[in-house]
Amino acid sequence: MLPELSQLIDLHELDKEISEVDQLLNHLPKELEALAQQLETLKSNLAARLQELEDLQKQRREAEAEVEDLEEGIKESRKRLLTIKKDLEYKAMLKEIGFKEDQRDQRETKVLELMEAIEAITGSIGELEQEIETEQHAFSRRETEVAAQVAKLREERAKLETKRVGLRKGLPAALLKRYEFINQRRNGGAVAEVRHGVCTGCHMNILPQQFIDLQKGEEILQCPHCQRILYWLGEEGAEEEEGLSRQAS
Ligand SMILES: [Zn+2]
Repeated sequence: MLPELSQLIDLHELDKEISEVDQLLNHLPKELEALAQQLETLKSNLAARLQELEDLQKQRREAEAEVEDLEEGIKESRKRLLTIKKDLEYKAMLKEIGFKEDQRDQRETKVLELMEAIEAITGSIGELEQEIETEQHAFSRRETEVAAQVAKLREERAKLETKRVGLRKGLPAALLKRYEFINQRRNGGAVAEVRHGVCTGCHMNILPQQFIDLQKGEEILQCPHCQRILYWLGEEGAEEEEGLSRQAS
């Protein structure tokens, strides 16, 4: 094999490694962001529940005050009832008391309903607070982990980059340009092995004469179908590997 082809294969492997590191470096902050978003949603749910609780408590205080007022009124009316002599007036007063008692009963029922609602919402607030605390802990833990992971990946990437610069230096500029062009178009897969005359990049047969030239190892060849830069490692290795994968499957 041409030394520059072998070096290009090394560069291709290295570029794949760098791309994996970059993907991870790109993904990790997004993962944290999603977790933070989840936490924010829980917190705004809690705020809404707390507001709801406050409203219910206000309604309850108002209903209780109304009950008290009506109770006061009923007492007053009963006192006045004792002083009334005329039958018609007496009956009218009794009717008024009855009406106020109805209203008081209705308000008391409302107070009970509000108390039940308050109890239910207080319970759900407690659960939500617990959940937020758990999520907050999980987030902080993941944040620390991610920070350490990112630092390590950056260090690794710097090392790979140094290696990459070194590998690129030894390659002809025209070949590098061709490599990069194909790499962009083939989503990072600029180089492909040929096995039994088939390009493993696109799974198509290369031309028989091309295969013979490739085996000679005297020039850089590209697949006629997918344009990937081709290399050949010898059929023995490939057959063994295939035999193994066939056995395994
Ligand atoms: Zn191909």
